[in-house]
Amino acid sequence: MADDCSRPLDFETRQIHAGSVVDAETHARVTPIYQTAGYVFDDFDDGEDRFAGRSRHRAYSRNDNPTNAVAGRRIADLEGGVDGIVVSSGQAAIAAAINALAESRDHILATRSLYEGTREMFRGILRRQGIVFEYVDDDATEDDWARRFRPNTKAVYTETLPNPLNQVVDIARLAAIAHTAGVPLVVDNTVPTPYLWRPIEDGADIVVHSTSKWLSGHGSVIGGAVVDAGQFDWAAHAGRFPQLTESPRPGVPSFVERFGAGALLAYLRTVIVLEYGPTVPPLSTFLLLHGIETLSVRMDRHVQNAQAVAEWLEGRPEVARVHYPGLEGDPYHELARRYLPLGAGSIVAIDLAGGREAARRFLDALELISPMTHIGDVRTLAIHLGSTIHAKLTEAERLEAGITPGLIRLSIGLESVRDLIADLERGLVAAAD
Ligand SMILES: *Cc1c(COP(=O)(O)O)cnc(C)c1O
Repeated sequence: MADDCSRPLDFETRQIHAGSVVDAETHARVTPIYQTAGYVFDDFDDGEDRFAGRSRHRAYSRNDNPTNAVAGRRIADLEGGVDGIVVSSGQAAIAAAINALAESRDHILATRSLYEGTREMFRGILRRQGIVFEYVDDDATEDDWARRFRPNTKAVYTETLPNPLNQVVDIARLAAIAHTAGVPLVVDNTVPTPYLWRPIEDGADIVVHSTSKWLSGHGSVIGGAVVDAGQFDWAAHAGRFPQLTESPRPGVPSFVERFGAGALLAYLRTVIVLEYGPTVPPLSTFLLLHGIETLSVRMDRHVQNAQAVAEWLEGRPEVARVHYPGLEGDPYHELARRYLPLGAGSIVAIDLAGGREAARRFLDALELISPMTHIGDVRTLAIHLGSTIHAKLTEAERLEAGITPGLIRLSIGLESVRDLIADLERGLVAAAD
């Protein structure tokens, strides 16, 4: 089939091959685990060159390891970015991205429907560092958004498919709003993965991931990634991002002068990750790469199972509401049709009519589905949010975030739908008792 040799490779091919390099010495086909802290200098001058970034050889694994580099390039390729870096967790990826853009007394606008771990970091450690976060309703008008920008606003932050309630965000609209104000859009794309949604194609500038979830898919590692679309024109907003547009030391060019479209990623690698050190072990990255190789195949089954389970749950009297945008009656169904044509992800959140006590009986009756925190595993997982992830909030704050007393988050795995429904039925019968 020598039809079109210039055609770019398909997603399914790139998830297996993108970013990999055959080991020069051994010709190993699988990316090896380069379990080493550092790399021997050829001689005195080579050491100096490596520290100055003038050599293509590495210096230290804290911010530069060959196994990790393959994963960074592969995730960037799948997202359609210029480069990426893997770090120790999703939280570390978010913290690194924010720290690369903002410092004390800066301001960031965010959509309200964010993952609670992110909100906790925004009102916790990052606020103590002096960064001010302001939340805007996802569906606020253009004028409402425009009014919130300040001269010190450094980013708009959002999630494509928010964990746990799946309120699909109109990324193209938010990108336009952010760009009109001269700031980049940062998007957490953990839940759909680049197989279901590539927000860079809709205008996102920086994509962050918890690779602990579907990208790995096996539930055996913690990791994160930051991808730079390479599209934001930092130089056009030079006063806002001096860390990228001004010379760091006399005689040294700025990151933009030196790295062009790769400026932000270079800054992340050589300043943020170098200084903070959120390094992911190469062994974890090896396992991540094995997960990514089968991403499309797994995601197809994840969404198929999630859709079937959501449709079954919708008909059950014990369930007051199913939050899944693949359902026709879901308020986010239209946005899901537009942005998620291959499927609406595999988180299904259900609100049990019997509230907290029904949730207790439901979870304690499950035999196959694992009651635990985590999502994006081959196994189906369930958690009561109000007593765990959202437990530090007041009742009023929980309700404002849509976390009702009977809310259970299901992360639908790859087991047979028949077995999943049998276990859910067991739980719902107990919940109604
Ligand atoms: C889990 C999660 C994170 C945090 O990732 P960790 O790898 O657990 O640190 C960030 N964002 C979203 C949407 C998540 O689901």
